[in-house]
Amino acid sequence: MKEGKQQGFGTRAIHAGQEPDPATGAIMTPIYQSSTFVQSGPAEHKGYEYARVSNPTRTALEGNLAALENAQHGICFSSGVAAIDAVLKCLNPGDRVVASNDLYGGTRRLMVHVFERFGLSFEFIDLTDASALEPHLGDDLKLVWLETPSNPLMNIIDIAAVSERAASVGAQVAVDNTFASPFLQQPLDLGATLVMHSTTKYIGGHSDVVGGAICTNDDWWNDSLRFIVKSAGAAPGPMDCFLLLRGTKTLHVRMERHCSNAEAVAHFLNDHPLVDRVRFPGLPNHPGHDIARRQMSGFGGMLSFTLKGDRMADAVTVLSNTSVFSLAESLGGVESLIEHPASMTHASVPVEERRRIGLDETLIRLSVGIEDVEDLLADLDHALAQVTG
Ligand SMILES: *Cc1c(COP(=O)(O)O)cnc(C)c1O
Repeated sequence: MKEGKQQGFGTRAIHAGQEPDPATGAIMTPIYQSSTFVQSGPAEHKGYEYARVSNPTRTALEGNLAALENAQHGICFSSGVAAIDAVLKCLNPGDRVVASNDLYGGTRRLMVHVFERFGLSFEFIDLTDASALEPHLGDDLKLVWLETPSNPLMNIIDIAAVSERAASVGAQVAVDNTFASPFLQQPLDLGATLVMHSTTKYIGGHSDVVGGAICTNDDWWNDSLRFIVKSAGAAPGPMDCFLLLRGTKTLHVRMERHCSNAEAVAHFLNDHPLVDRVRFPGLPNHPGHDIARRQMSGFGGMLSFTLKGDRMADAVTVLSNTSVFSLAESLGGVESLIEHPASMTHASVPVEERRRIGLDETLIRLSVGIEDVEDLLADLDHALAQVTG
């Protein structure tokens, strides 16, 4: 980045990492749909060689995402879980990882069902109180993996407080920042070493691409993660990188609308007689509200809620009676989605564990899109009205 005062988020979102194409002046970074790049001589490495290692469209995206996370380095992957996979591949057998217990289901699946077989050990704990980390500190602790806001319970973790404790034993903190997006939260500024995104979600924003990224200021992690992309091959294609670059240009505008719509939906549900508990960090009664206010610049577009009476049939009624909200996994797109974590996104979390963390069978998760808010409220009002006592 150029020296001097840093440009604002929106300006960086639109311009960072990208220059008009030197050959043609094209203002959009071209989709460099090429697997290999011609060399000027056998020993003269100048830039690009082979597209698993790097590709100019991907480089532009990496520069763009790094600028949005206030990072020196961005490394892109073919999916969010491929990004997590690459981080874990940089650890060694015997290393211990502490992870927050309310995680994207696929993250936990990867940790337990893939990496435990390779000698890493994982402890899943409630990190909403940062001091809970203390009994888990030790020399073999290498990484603390956390999600905030978490999926699907919307728990908030104090990134600075966890980072400080982890640093006391030389462990590093990685934050899955998918729910907040870099517009609302910059974990590296709060002491994390790695920030991860499923770019599939808010960064892409249009439900048309799957991708992942890690941003960091740490040169060792940058080199190690690039070595993993090159060696293990989870590289994103140029078309996907182009779509993500297109997505980031409107991230700041979309997020503002996601936030205001979600806030209105949260208040509507909170006041609804059939709704038991709304989990949204923007509600003053949310246990993580004060921390969220400190470390986020807005509360995001995600929320979850339960119905009074705890009847599964009632949740199914709501899930089957929306029409603007579509019943689907995933999140972060312009369109509103509704889903049932216990049977969909978090079905791979064992039942006892789901009970322990409060992931009830009747929990409903919303990804609030950027449609007109009146239509979203009317849709939920209608679906809730179908629930009979
Ligand atoms: C979707 C998601 C992932 C996994 O990303 P993919 O792009 O689907 O591989 C990881 N973390 C969170 C919070 C997610 O929502």
